[in-house]
Amino acid sequence: MSDCLFCKIITGEIPCSNVFEDNKIFVFKDINPRAAVHLLVIPKIHIDSLDELSSDHQALISHIMLQLPDLARSQGLDNGFRTIINTGPDGGQEVGHLHIHLLGGKDLPSFN
Ligand code: 5GP
Ligand code: ZN
Repeated sequence: MSDCLFCKIITGEIPCSNVFEDNKIFVFKDINPRAAVHLLVIPKIHIDSLDELSSDHQALISHIMLQLPDLARSQGLDNGFRTIINTGPDGGQEVGHLHIHLLGGKDLPSFN
């Protein structure tokens, strides 16, 4: 999608701090980190949100999930991490390209 911020990050049109990529996913540091480690994990194909997933995306989503623990460990998060997916306006999603927040470090605020 030509006017999508994260698609432009994938192509390099908008710079970012990239930490990992393979043929399916792209991982980079959040520009406004809310924790000592705050990565964004995104599919290379444009998907608006979790709401737009279909069974065609099954292999892609499972690939992303399976990468998350290794990505966390690669950032030194040996004792756990947090993942967040905001979906749609009421879910607080600001960028319309599916992304998983991967957060970690000591002193993450309690979530309850
Ligand atoms: P959302 O609120 O949609 O779940 O999260 C979007 C995230 O994208 C936010 O945490 C925000 O800081 C991050 N973000 C927005 N614009 C940019 C950018 O240009 N570069 C990077 N690296 N992160 C961005
Ligand atoms: Zn996109």
